[in-house]
Amino acid sequence: MKYVSTRGRAPVLEFGDVLLAGLAEDGGLYVPDRWPELSAEARGGRPGRGDYAALAAEVMWPFAAGAYPRARFEEMVRDAYAGFDHPEVAPMVELGDGLWLMELFHGPTLAFKDIALQLVGRLFDEELDRRGERVTIVGATSGDTGSAAIEAVRDREGIQIVILHPHGRISEMQRRQMTTVDSANVHNVAIDGTFDDCQDLVKAMFADAEFRSEQRLSAVNSINWARVMAQTVYYVAAVARHGLTRTAFSVPTGNFGNVLAGHVARQMGLPVERFIVASNRNDILTQFFNMGSMATSAVHPTLSPSMDIQVSSNLERLLFELLDRDGARTAEMLEDFRAAGSLRIDAGILAELGRSWSGVRVDDVETVDAIAALYRSTGMIVDPHTAVGLAAAHRSRGHCDGDIVVLATAHPAKFADAVESAIGAPPPMPPVLAELAERPERCHRLPNDLDAVKAHVARCSA
Ligand SMILES: *Cc1c(COP(=O)(O)O)cnc(C)c1O
Repeated sequence: MKYVSTRGRAPVLEFGDVLLAGLAEDGGLYVPDRWPELSAEARGGRPGRGDYAALAAEVMWPFAAGAYPRARFEEMVRDAYAGFDHPEVAPMVELGDGLWLMELFHGPTLAFKDIALQLVGRLFDEELDRRGERVTIVGATSGDTGSAAIEAVRDREGIQIVILHPHGRISEMQRRQMTTVDSANVHNVAIDGTFDDCQDLVKAMFADAEFRSEQRLSAVNSINWARVMAQTVYYVAAVARHGLTRTAFSVPTGNFGNVLAGHVARQMGLPVERFIVASNRNDILTQFFNMGSMATSAVHPTLSPSMDIQVSSNLERLLFELLDRDGARTAEMLEDFRAAGSLRIDAGILAELGRSWSGVRVDDVETVDAIAALYRSTGMIVDPHTAVGLAAAHRSRGHCDGDIVVLATAHPAKFADAVESAIGAPPPMPPVLAELAERPERCHRLPNDLDAVKAHVARCSA
């Protein structure tokens, strides 16, 4: 399998290079040069009904074949999911009336990011070891990516990790999950700005070719292809293992990585009728899917902070597909978007898109109501991100009459305040989170200033 950039001007790469490169040199994102077909085993939810790791290796193998011997790949996949606290890794709970919750938060940091990053950390380690190289992973987090990335690479020999988060804009629990990790290769930075500022700083560091190669920068945020790849698996698991025939997925969305993975699964032949892109008040994607246009505005803090994003990087991968994989047109559209802050797609493309995608905006009041309503009717507690997906699913019943699978992206205890405001009591606290309150924090605070951040990264990678 070869990988091409969505902007068409970067070298074509192999899996191992794409894994380490993150963003392409032309500012684009890497995608496979073609979509492989799901194997018969994967389609049937086999091999080993119930064995997530075996299904994962089967689904992902076409993307990584050639980079590792199959047995070694299977071993890394198995190892990645061995630490999850549920034997099914991503169990499904039926809520009735064709509504399902797929729980993606059984990994070490209790958010869905672990599913991809526990594997990506191992793939990185293997690839660096093979090459005898070291890297400095630099990333921006709106909350959950950072802790999942840190947890995935802590104490790994050839890796330093520097994670930028927007100061005061992530939950205390999310912050503590990162800042209490006592590993010498882990460096937390709090930026005086928003998540988009953090993401822009990271992009600017990668765009500086000299700095990038001097510091051997690498990325594991959701632009990394291997993360998307790992996330396709649970879509296959949901449909194939439960024998669903007419399925829509409602996906609480921020950077568009999660739902894009669903699109990839569908391109591989998984039958999915619709993707419901659920957003909070930061509804730029709702505009995109309903009107074919989007314009950036200020980021509003909400109860679902991991979705407080205006510019969803991974949308570029979908645009590339919508533009018939024309890198030059994709580059032009995204460069115009950068410059003008707005973007519009053709009416024909929009009409096509509307057949199998919808965008739904859910505000904080509806989010709280969704948590409360589910609790009243079932006793189950969901986190505010999942609640956005749940409310969007309810509202989409008009054009989805099959099953709707809501992806539950975080454990409710990670967002205890929002949950308490909905149900009048805090959610039960799992011991792994309760312990964090006792541990000392390590974090460096910096202004939203590229030079200051670069200097700090250089010190960390030295
Ligand atoms: C990251 C995250 C999201 C958004 O996922 P994207 O892949 O960025 O769209 C939603 N919910 C939670 C809890 C997250 O951590």
